[in-house]
Amino acid sequence: MLVNSKPDTFEKLQLLSRDSQYDLACACGTDKFGHRTRGGQGKWIYPITLPDGGRSVLFKTLISNACSSDCKYCPLNKNNDVRRCTLTNEEIVNSFLDYYNRGEVFGLFLSSGIIGTAEATMDKLITCTEILRKKHQFKGYIHLKILPGSSPAAIAKAVSLATAVSLNIETPGKEFLSKLSTKKDFLKDIVEPIKLISSLAKQNRRRVKQTTQFIVGAAGENDRQIVDYTSALYNRMGLNRVYFSAYQHIHAENQQSANQNQEGFIREHRLYQVDFLLRKYGFKQTEFIYDNSGRLSIEKDPKEIWAQNHPEFFPVNINTANKYNLLRVPGLGPNTVEMIINKRNVAKISSIDDIGSMNKRTLKAAKYLDFGAQQKNKVFLFNF
Ligand code: SF4
Repeated sequence: MLVNSKPDTFEKLQLLSRDSQYDLACACGTDKFGHRTRGGQGKWIYPITLPDGGRSVLFKTLISNACSSDCKYCPLNKNNDVRRCTLTNEEIVNSFLDYYNRGEVFGLFLSSGIIGTAEATMDKLITCTEILRKKHQFKGYIHLKILPGSSPAAIAKAVSLATAVSLNIETPGKEFLSKLSTKKDFLKDIVEPIKLISSLAKQNRRRVKQTTQFIVGAAGENDRQIVDYTSALYNRMGLNRVYFSAYQHIHAENQQSANQNQEGFIREHRLYQVDFLLRKYGFKQTEFIYDNSGRLSIEKDPKEIWAQNHPEFFPVNINTANKYNLLRVPGLGPNTVEMIINKRNVAKISSIDDIGSMNKRTLKAAKYLDFGAQQKNKVFLFNF
C-alpha cells in the first residue's frame, strides 16, 4: 500500500471525492452518465436530482479511502495498490461549510472506506455530523453512509442525525455476495441493518430517507434477480430509492473487458428504466420480460417490449383511457399523461399534433393510440 506522507486538504479532497464517484445512492442523476459527472466548481461537487425533480449540487466525499475490506469489485479494496489518505474531522466540517456558506452546495454526502473497523468509522462519520448539527447549527441536508457491520447503536445515532442514509445491498442474495467479499455477511451485516433502518425511519418524525445500491455484473447475477430484490426493498422494507452501478473492469485494455464494461452500462440503464416503471408507472415486478437467462433486452426498453408482447392491450383510446392505461403506451411518460388528461378535460384530442410537437417519442406513442375513427387511418400511416 502506498502511503502519502502529508497531502494537504485540497489534495486529500481531490483523491477522496474522485473515489466517492462509485457510490450513487445519494440521488445523483440517473441519466446515462450523469451520476458519474462532477460539477465544474470543484471535484467534490456532484449534481443531484431532488425528490421534486429539481436539480442541485452536493458536496460529496469519502472520509477515507483506506479500507480493511476486500470487495473484489471495489478499486479501494485493501489488496489494491492505491494512494490512501484520511480527512480529519475539522477538514471535513470546514471544507463543507466554506462551500455551503458561499451558497455553492445544497448539502453533504459523507461516506468512507472501513478504517480498521466499521464501528470506528461510523464513530467518525457521526462525530462530523454532530459537529455540523450541534456546534454549527447546520439544519440542512446530510446523507450518511451506513457501513456494513455497524452496530444497532451506531445506526440509530446516524438515523437520528441524518436527512438520508444508505447501506449498499450490493447483490441480490448471499450466494452472490460471498463471491465478492470474504468479510461481509449478507444477512447480518446488510439485510438486518437495512431492516433496522426502515423501522427506525418509520419511528423518526423527520422521516429519514433510506436508499441502497446494487453493483451490476460483478457476481454473475441476472437482471430478474436484481429486479425481484428491488421490488421487495420497496414493498417490504419501504426504501425510497434503489440505485444501480455497473461493475467496471478497471483494466479494460482488451476488447472483451471493454465490451463487458459497455454492456454493464446498458444493463444499468435498463434497470433504471425498470425501476421507474415500478415506482412511477404502476408496473409489477412479475410483468417484465426476460430472456432465458433472466436478462432484460439490451436492444429495447422494457416498456416497449411489454407493449409488443401485449397486442390485446392496444390501441389505447387517448380520450377515454385512465391514467394507468395511458402510462402503458410506449413514448408516454407521467408528465405527458398528465398533460393529456388536462387537455382532454377541455376538448377532445383528435390528433397526435394535439399532444405536442412531433418527435421520436410522440411518433412512437401514435402507433399505440386510438384517437377515434377519423384519426385511426392517420395513426397507422406512421409505419417505421
Ligand atoms: S467496504 Fe466499501 S470501500 Fe471497502 S472494499 Fe468494500 S466497497 Fe470498497
